[in-house]
Amino acid sequence: MKKVLESSKKDLLNLGIGDVSLPLIPEACKTLQKAAFEMSERPIGYPSSHGDHSLRQTIFEKFYKNFPLSSSNIFISDGINSDLGNIQELFDQTTTFGVHEPSYPVPHDVCIMAGRSQFTTVISCDEKDRFLPKPPNHKIDVMYLCTPNNPSGTAMNYEELKAWVDWANFNKSILIVDAAYIDFIQDPSIPKSIYEIPGALSCAIELRSFSKSCGFTGLRCSFSVFPDDVKGLIAKQSQPLKAIWAKRMATKSNGIAYPIQQAALSCLSEQGWHQAMMQVNHYLKMAKALKTSCEKAGFETLGASNAPYVFIKCPQHMNSWQFFDYLLENLSIVSVPGSGFGKSAEGYIRLSGLITEEVCKKLVRDWKVSAVLSKTSQTPTFGKAP
Ligand code: PLP
Repeated sequence: MKKVLESSKKDLLNLGIGDVSLPLIPEACKTLQKAAFEMSERPIGYPSSHGDHSLRQTIFEKFYKNFPLSSSNIFISDGINSDLGNIQELFDQTTTFGVHEPSYPVPHDVCIMAGRSQFTTVISCDEKDRFLPKPPNHKIDVMYLCTPNNPSGTAMNYEELKAWVDWANFNKSILIVDAAYIDFIQDPSIPKSIYEIPGALSCAIELRSFSKSCGFTGLRCSFSVFPDDVKGLIAKQSQPLKAIWAKRMATKSNGIAYPIQQAALSCLSEQGWHQAMMQVNHYLKMAKALKTSCEKAGFETLGASNAPYVFIKCPQHMNSWQFFDYLLENLSIVSVPGSGFGKSAEGYIRLSGLITEEVCKKLVRDWKVSAVLSKTSQTPTFGKAP
């Protein structure tokens, strides 16, 4: 951020953001206004701390009706970020945690903030595994997984997820699956929920959000799924985590604002979901256009099919920050250095497809010019000549 603010460049093309660039979907906006007005007409007090019943029921019917779950397994929250951190309160201080890198840094950060550094294992992922983690050959009590992954834009397929579920059940471990980008999945070989994997109902908690698909980053609404059979050791006894989470929510949260939950509910209507999917398709289109233009310019890339991110290998042995500086100074492009997501992603940068058409077009145009420059061997050259 400091480098971006200090840059002398004007009209920066910001492809570093993980925030949305499209507005809240119209259906949600309309409902939000209506619900706020309703509050001026009749008293609407504390919401249920577990979430509005019709929202929980609709989430169940839309995403989970083919699994032995019910609305009672679904809890409404104000964002995946909150849940990633708050879940730690369910476990005692000697519980071991696992995170993988490169990945969204919050799970690792919350482990450190909770004073769990010495009980936290970081699994480093390889470029050859598309930067996705494989289960270790030892037990970890609670493992955070992020798939589709930010920053690599890659997602675990059925076999890869099955390996984690089998590992978790064998070790009596718990998986916390951050599925913030699940609505972006296009590839049929990638499950649309961890519960498609046999055995997941006894070991996995799934976290999903309205943030990226419905434009809710500024409103804040998400949900978590706690199946009945996911159990944890609490006070040395194995107890269903659903009950402890429910108790935690009832004690520490008085629920999510009525208009926000109503707006979230409207996103799941036919019209609302259609608008949400239009936004998802727009972001994926942007990500794919970025990816294609990078590849035409000779870069190796990952992502853009099941998440709105393109992960680009830096050319000519540049490290992440060198390439970041190069793009900023030469093309006025703001990216995110891969090294910020973990040491394994040194030598990569992330570009975000959560952008407008205008930004995307400018980047594709400038990228082409650079590819031409590299062909005519101006220095520094840019990618390999296509
Ligand atoms: N998880 C991942 C992988 C993310 O990339 C983000 C935001 O960028 C979040 C969670 C945050 O989600 P929410 O807005 O629901 O807190």
